[in-house]
Order: sequence, then structure tokens, then C-alpha cells
Amino acid sequence: MAGQLREFALISRFFAPLATSAGALALTDDACLIEENALCDLAVTTDALIEGVHFLNRDPPNLIARKALRVNLSDLAAKGARPIGYLLALCLPRDADDAWLDAFASGLAEDQKQFSVSLLGGDTTATTGPMTLAVTALGEVAKGRMITRGGAQPGDSVFVSGTIGDAGAGLALLKGELEQGAGDEYLTGRYQLPTPRLSLGRELAGVASAALDVSDGLVGDLAHIAEVSKVRISIEAARIPLSPELRARLGAGVDSLVDAATSGDDYEIAFTSPSERGALAAGRRAGVPVTRIGQVTAGEGVCLLDRNGREITINQAGYSHF
Ligand code: ADP
Ligand code: MG
Repeated sequence: MAGQLREFALISRFFAPLATSAGALALTDDACLIEENALCDLAVTTDALIEGVHFLNRDPPNLIARKALRVNLSDLAAKGARPIGYLLALCLPRDADDAWLDAFASGLAEDQKQFSVSLLGGDTTATTGPMTLAVTALGEVAKGRMITRGGAQPGDSVFVSGTIGDAGAGLALLKGELEQGAGDEYLTGRYQLPTPRLSLGRELAGVASAALDVSDGLVGDLAHIAEVSKVRISIEAARIPLSPELRARLGAGVDSLVDAATSGDDYEIAFTSPSERGALAAGRRAGVPVTRIGQVTAGEGVCLLDRNGREITINQAGYSHF
């Protein structure tokens, strides 16, 4: 079975039956929903990072820490939630030294200040395997206003924040798979230190009908909205926003667009909305560029269209762990 299919098949077979609470959203969303009080709900999400998979052991510890926190804040952003705090579970190799941990903690301190969150708890253990860290983040959202993956309707347009594909190119550069050139620092920075689009997410309440953060590739992630909302999503490849740095490296050919649309780690927000004007205005209020990239229709699945409206064949829609 193809990798990404297996990941989601095993979640739906073994774990979804355990998700008996309505707020678990059948394990199909970026965060679960806990009713807090008459005014607020809580959005809760967790993501694990493993040495050799999500970061390399030579990566600067402060950046590893900040990325671990930020990828979780990105899930909260996509739900329109305001982060409150986080828990940190660390499985450290026995030889982890104080200098490494000092830099790691400084990275967290810096981002805590930037995003107004506090460490709330966690767990620390030693492991004989690679270093693993899991962050669980909690955010608050006005009662009934959490944006799920389930509300896209035929007739809605599809939007994405920022630019797509930078982090994928950044990772290729770090792995030595792409020749060095101008704009490298920007591209590797986009991989090592993503920007959770928290201000945009909060502006999307009442504007977006469905949203998620793009972590595994734009096309593959939009397929989740299509599946949960029971709609078809068509993306016009030429509309996918690319940074000048990425354009300079890759050119604007179809292959480059497919690479950008299927590489992971963007941590932008992809969303649907019945109102193009509302979507663009939310982007302006948040100070984040928002681009219309496609359309929601009746049907199922996701497709990428070329300039002539013909479907582009894609081998792999996104990053896969299996
Ligand atoms: P995201 O990319 O937004 O972090 P994932 O693709 O990692 O989401 O996960 C998809 C869904 O499956 C989420 O709702 C997540 O909470 C759920 N999930 C994944 N693994 C597990 C697990 N082991 N137990 C319970 N839920 C899980
Ligand atoms: Mg997500």
C-alpha cells in the first residue's frame, strides 16, 4: 500500500474507533476540540519530531526546539485558535550534553516570548534510539468558531497563504540534492524555521469554510479537506504562489510547480471560502499574502490543472512516513 495511504489507513483502522468523543472529529482534523466554557473552546494538537526524519543531528538545537513548537502552533493557527501553552515530551540519547540542552531551551524561550505561550508540563526519558521530541499545544478559540476540515462547499474558492515549495527546496539544499545558489539562506530558513500563520488563522473565523495547515504537501493536504468535506478540489497549478527565490532556482515549468505543490513543511494555511473578497481582506488584516488557487465543486478528490485545464498526473501527492 502506498505510504501515505498506509499512515491514514492504520489511523482509521486502529485508532479512530477509540475516538468516541465528538470533539475528536474522528481523528480527521489538525486538532481536537474540547468544550471549555460558555465562551471558549480548546483546540489541542500534538506532533512528534524524530532525529534523522524531521531534523538532522547536526541541526542547531535552538532551531530544532523552535520548529517543534512552531509546527504545533501552525496546527492551532489553521483552526483559528490562539495558543496558550504547550507540553514537551523528550526522549534523549544518554549522551545528550548540557550545552545542547541549554541551546535547545534558549530556542524555546525565544519563541515563547514571540508567540506568548508557556511550557505547561511534559516528560523526560532516556532512549537508546534516535532523539524524539513530542510537543502538545493548547489553544483557545471562541465558542463554536474552530475552523475544521469539514465545511468546504461546492462553489467555494480555494486559497493558500504565503508561498509554497520553499521549504522543500530548502531541505533539498541541506541534503546536498540541489546546487547551491542565490537565495539559499531564505530557502533553508523556510525549512528550519517555519512561520505559524497565527494572525491569519484568527482572521479566518467566519471567513473560511474549511482550513488546514500545509505540512505534508499542498496537494496531499487539500485531499484531506476534499475527503472530510466530501467535495472535489481543483487547483490551477499556475496560480500556486512561488517565492522569487524559488522561481529563480526552479523556473516556472510544470515539473517545478508539481514539486512545489507536493513537497512538505510549508506550514502555510490552505483554506476554502465562499467569499474571495473576505479571504483577501483577512490576509490584508493579518499582513499575510493570500492567493486564490482553485475551486471547490461537487465530487471527490483533488486535481492539479495545467493552463489548458487538463489534469496534471502526480506520482506522489505529499510526504509519506511509510
Ligand atoms: P497533522 O498533519 O495536522 O498533524 P496528521 O496527518 O499527523 O495531522 O494526523 C491526522 C489525524 O490523525 C489527526 O487528527 C491526528 O490527531 C490523528 N492521529 C494521528 N496519529 C494518531 C494516533 N496514534 N492516535 C490518535 N490519533 C492520531
Ligand atoms: Mg495540520
